[in-house]
Amino acid sequence: MKYALVTGGSRGIGRAVATGLASQGYHVLINYRSNDEEARLTLEQLSSAGGTGTLMKFDVGDPAEVDRAIGKWSDEHRDEYIEVLVNNAGIRKDILLMWMEDSHWKEVLDTNLGGFFYVTRALVKNMLVNRYGRIINIVSLSGIKGLPGQVNYSAAKAAVIGATKALAQEIGKKNVTVNAVAPGYIRTDMTKDLNENELKGMIPLNRFGTPEEVAEVVCFLASAKASYITGDVISVNGGLYT
Ligand code: NAP
Repeated sequence: MKYALVTGGSRGIGRAVATGLASQGYHVLINYRSNDEEARLTLEQLSSAGGTGTLMKFDVGDPAEVDRAIGKWSDEHRDEYIEVLVNNAGIRKDILLMWMEDSHWKEVLDTNLGGFFYVTRALVKNMLVNRYGRIINIVSLSGIKGLPGQVNYSAAKAAVIGATKALAQEIGKKNVTVNAVAPGYIRTDMTKDLNENELKGMIPLNRFGTPEEVAEVVCFLASAKASYITGDVISVNGGLYT
């Protein structure tokens, strides 16, 4: 059995990625933080399409929780390893910098950047030992361009882009690739407070994207077909200038 871990797989982009990877034959470990009902729905959706998966509840921003969950899985799967990691779990807490409290900064950095670090560190060794692995980090247009009201989120996503490029150079020789996918405006719970009708005018394709449109790119990068792409950032943003 081949294993893939999708962090934040219970909803939105993560759910579409989990479903896509399952249809590529992966047993998908669906991570989430708190929303048991949505996670169960993702597992149901993936199973009814003929795939298999397991729910894995932990906070990616808490190193002790990450190590406990991954350690438990490894103890129970001694001869196996997770060959695809999609670091997708993310939150935003938008506010102008002058009003930003420590908690706004810390929570966004812990989840979006800390999550990448803790989970990747826990899995990368076995990818290197097995001389095959795919790491895909979901970043954002905000991390490339910067967006007002999102200094915390833009900083976290830009940091993950830097980390993607650095790690790709560290581990390329072992046939492990590391790439980032940068969505623009995608219809999920994260953007449900935004007015698509107002914002779509600045998007050349004149609409928000769907989670499935992001998942297609992620699943390609996760496949063996993407064997000569590493350290790159691919935008999925309907043509928004980056
Ligand atoms: P979403 O619908 O809000 O879903 C977020 C997912 O992340 C949920 O599964 C949530 O789990 C999980 N999560 C949040 N904090 C977590 C933590 N500490 N530990 C584990 N899981 C955690 O978000 P989305 O729109 O699909 O976004 C997915 C990724 O794409 C994020 O990294 C986001 O920054 C990025 N992105 C999104 C857009 C967009 O327009 N939607 C644009 C650019 C980038 P629970 O269900 O348990 O809460």
